Amino acid sequence: METGQVKKGQINVQTENIFPIIKKFLYSDHEIFLRELVSNAVDASQKVKVLAATGEFKGEIGELQVRVILDKAAKTLTISDRGIGMTSDEIDKYINQIAFSGAEEFVKQYEGKEGAESIIGHFGLGFYSAFMVSEKVEIRTLSRHAGSQAVMWESNGSPEYTITEIEKADRGTDIVLYINEESIEFLEKARIQGILDKYCKFLPIPIIFGNKTEYIDSPEGEKDDAGKVKRVAIDVPNQVNNPAPAWTKAPADLTTEDYNSFYRELYPMSFEDPLFHIHLNVDYPFNLTGILYFPRIKENVEVQKNKINLYSNQVFITDSVSEIVPEFLTLLHGVIDSPDIPLNVSRSYLQSDSNVKKISSHITKKVADKLAEMFKKDRADFESKWEDLKIFVEYGTLSDDKFAEKAKAFSLVKSTDGKYYTLAEYKEKIATLQTDKDKKVVALYTNDKDAQYGFVKAAKDRSYDVLELDGPLVPHWVSKMEQDEGDLTFARVDSDTLDNLIKKDEEIPSKLSKDDEEKLKVIFEGAVNKEKFKVEFASMSETEAPIIVTQPEFIRRMMEQQKMGGAGFFGAFPESYQLVVNSNHPKVGEILVNTDEQVRVEKVKQLTDLAMLSQGMLKGEALSKFIERSIELV
Ligand code: ADP
Repeated sequence: METGQVKKGQINVQTENIFPIIKKFLYSDHEIFLRELVSNAVDASQKVKVLAATGEFKGEIGELQVRVILDKAAKTLTISDRGIGMTSDEIDKYINQIAFSGAEEFVKQYEGKEGAESIIGHFGLGFYSAFMVSEKVEIRTLSRHAGSQAVMWESNGSPEYTITEIEKADRGTDIVLYINEESIEFLEKARIQGILDKYCKFLPIPIIFGNKTEYIDSPEGEKDDAGKVKRVAIDVPNQVNNPAPAWTKAPADLTTEDYNSFYRELYPMSFEDPLFHIHLNVDYPFNLTGILYFPRIKENVEVQKNKINLYSNQVFITDSVSEIVPEFLTLLHGVIDSPDIPLNVSRSYLQSDSNVKKISSHITKKVADKLAEMFKKDRADFESKWEDLKIFVEYGTLSDDKFAEKAKAFSLVKSTDGKYYTLAEYKEKIATLQTDKDKKVVALYTNDKDAQYGFVKAAKDRSYDVLELDGPLVPHWVSKMEQDEGDLTFARVDSDTLDNLIKKDEEIPSKLSKDDEEKLKVIFEGAVNKEKFKVEFASMSETEAPIIVTQPEFIRRMMEQQKMGGAGFFGAFPESYQLVVNSNHPKVGEILVNTDEQVRVEKVKQLTDLAMLSQGMLKGEALSKFIERSIELV
């Protein structure tokens, strides 16, 4: 081609006109054109480095950066790189032909289907996404080959294009977009900055978007009135990205502070450092790098979910990774970068992709291994983090069997004396005293030490140990542990009398006859709401409370699980309690022999109220009557 010659041609496309289809498909997500064009520019820049390294490119590399230039008056947006550029032949090959062989496939497969926008890059249509927002696009490019002629390709979105020879001093490519009427939002600086922040924050080549103001000490040393060196404003190039994010570096080169400061870079709004991190680095059977952070999990779990960002070669793809990592891992924060995840296909396809499944189980394994390693290396430190970790570990245990298997080694339970045990350790600790006559080890627990103080104390008085298990997943978690272990049951301390919770062979004989019990039952039933409270007798030791109010473990657990969601098939449970009368308590005996009806009723009321009070269940009118009655007694 001689200088000045113009070539006209038809973009090689059999399907009549691709552009209306692209436009229609991409409607929901127009902004990705910038991601596509900037990442093309970055690729072309990286290639210069690669070719220089292999000796194929012998020229000056120069400063490789990608500049995004907004010209509101001319209504253009330009993406300019110092990459390998293209010759006229290369434009023919890469832009006119290759792109559209992909496009046809694209059209056939996805016409009219949902989610087509996400597959655009997959078919080599990235560059053409420019036409979503442009009435005309120019490629002005000078190839890396010595002595190349710079050329300009231009098209207005119809299959016709022209290639013209032009003057261009620098190697590389400028993509000039003449923004169309419907897309003038992309002539706004803030809009472009926003898109660059979203997709280009960690691209490997510096991305410059205009200038920004920085304040520095006056270079002339000018002083203000107070005698301090003046601060002056200067314009500096506005680099939007960090080209070397932490996950691309070797873990050995990073300190905890480096990881924490990268965390703040990812989540500028977060005020707390993460608990710890896992640096992922896999190259077989797929490529994957990344850093996952354990946040300090707060009550409001939902807010913290879905914060993992997915990248492909440092290009942001999505912050929805639910197809790639199991649900419980979405509690983690951080970055996953994999060129091997088929990013540009539909979600349902992703879920069935075997590579994605492998990635998911690999990440799960890594997380479990990291926790196991931390536990082994420094148990005291691990224990100090446990309260923050436990929801996560319980969630993982409930949702992933492989994780559950590994988690046995580091899942902890905390005793009310403040010590932590693995379940295996704990079982061993309590086996001697807390094994019942059916050979089941009974782990007693409280979910509220203060509210259940009396019950905890009674258990401890018998040298039983009591665990502190609280949190929303506990009802599900204890059920799962019982299933897995077989010979272990959990019982909340207030769910029955201790003798019933840990049934031993020897029984304490009752001082009451059946007749006595019947008589007393009527009196007690008169003192409480019969629908809600079932009166029962238990022959406990004389030193235990005369009456206790309990809620059966099974019923309470079902209610809790129902509240959490799941296990809904039992239908709604009515609230119900047991009013357990200690047949051997002297006060109970006294009531039985007392002949004054009124005194009897008073005493029963006083005793049941005390039992309720110790459960925090005495409220309102009942509480105030109790107080009045108590004052009388004084
Ligand atoms: P993909 O990037 O998926 O291959 P594109 O349609 O985005 O598809 O680009 C097609 C081809 O055009 C690229 O593979 C590359 O060879 C070439 N190309 C695009 N942009 C540039 C650029 N800025 N510099 C050099 N070559 C480019």
